[in-house]
Amino acid sequence: MTQSVTRQVKQAIMAQLYTHASFSLPCLGLLALGWSLLFNDYLPAGEAFGWLGLVSLLLFCRGWHLRWRQPRLAQIPLPVLERELFIGVTITSIIWALGVLLYMDKLPDTYRAAMMMLSSLILTGSAIMLFGSRRSLYGAVLPLGLAMLFELGVGNEQERIVSCMLAGYLFVFLPTLLRRLRRDQVASLYHRFSNADLVAELKAVSEHLKLTSRLDGLTGIANRAHLDDSLERAWRRCHRARTPLSLVLVDVDYFKQFNDLYGHQLGDECLQQVAGLLAEVQRREDDLAARYGGEEFALLLPCTSMQGALQIAENVRVALKELGIPHQQSLVSNRVSCSFGVATLVPDQSSSIAQLIQKADAALYQAKHNGRDRIEVALMGKVA
Ligand code: GH3
Ligand code: MG
Ligand code: MG
Repeated sequence: MTQSVTRQVKQAIMAQLYTHASFSLPCLGLLALGWSLLFNDYLPAGEAFGWLGLVSLLLFCRGWHLRWRQPRLAQIPLPVLERELFIGVTITSIIWALGVLLYMDKLPDTYRAAMMMLSSLILTGSAIMLFGSRRSLYGAVLPLGLAMLFELGVGNEQERIVSCMLAGYLFVFLPTLLRRLRRDQVASLYHRFSNADLVAELKAVSEHLKLTSRLDGLTGIANRAHLDDSLERAWRRCHRARTPLSLVLVDVDYFKQFNDLYGHQLGDECLQQVAGLLAEVQRREDDLAARYGGEEFALLLPCTSMQGALQIAENVRVALKELGIPHQQSLVSNRVSCSFGVATLVPDQSSSIAQLIQKADAALYQAKHNGRDRIEVALMGKVA
């Protein structure tokens, strides 16, 4: 979990860096234009236009690159993205440093101060936008910062004092502030993603628990609780729609003898095979095959008439014969067989679920009594 969260955090930071970089490009373009207009009189036109052209070309190329990269950020390895960003911001910073070196000597004092202000603005803006990647931050701050320190360091006394203050700002204040910002950002992203991870994990566990609490451990089909639940829902639905509801109870014949002869292990496997057969005959989404208890099973068939239920029970009976699980101790066949009790009714005020079960049970008893390996149908007041 931790590894995936760490990766998500890194990806989110990189996406944010790319968004910030796209936002910064028009701002830098405007600053370069303002800078050129402000200091227009102090540099030969060729050099001034050359520098402005260089900045514009670079910003255009970076803008194009960012537009091309942004939709595919998730597919590109993070180190590649970080390297590209580092190269982009470093070249930009070098070109601004070139601007400082080109202009600074030629400007009068007030303009030199204005240039320092503009450069500090660019530095601070870049640092705040890039604090998510230490490498890109250094790439953006160092060339321009060093050029400013150099120009101020070789200037008059006041400029040397400003140079010392700038060095303090660049190498002490800014890194401390940015380290803190970065720590807070990582912590908040980490919380966000680990919470999302936890919620997804809890959801999966709860789904799994919900599913397993409704399934029988041995056979993998629905358990008694699931059957009771479905029976109630099917009852209400059929009541509303006035359609028949059928229940088939299935009991393995002479299963005690099967266990005695072949052992419990094979007994369990036999129950699994019978359950598999019942699950296969489920025709509709609403039909349900369940383990009723021990070696008894149930087929819940909503919107199914008695004839339909009889047909399904017969299909199971025949399929079980064809499966041919040996049972030498059975008194009705030398293969495993089942008896079936079918009950069908159209739910109404005068009938109940308990009545349906009791009738199916009585029909099953009748099937046992009449010789097993057979299907008996319960006679009810209002059958479909
Ligand atoms: P009948 O034909 O009348 O149904 O006879 P029967 O032997 O099948 O019925 P009885 O109720 O006498 O025996 C049921 C047997 O089913 C007894 C019990 O040990 C066995 N049984 C119940 N649950 C399981 C199970 O999960 N695994 C195994 N192997 N046997 C089970
Ligand atoms: Mg039984
Ligand atoms: Mg039995």
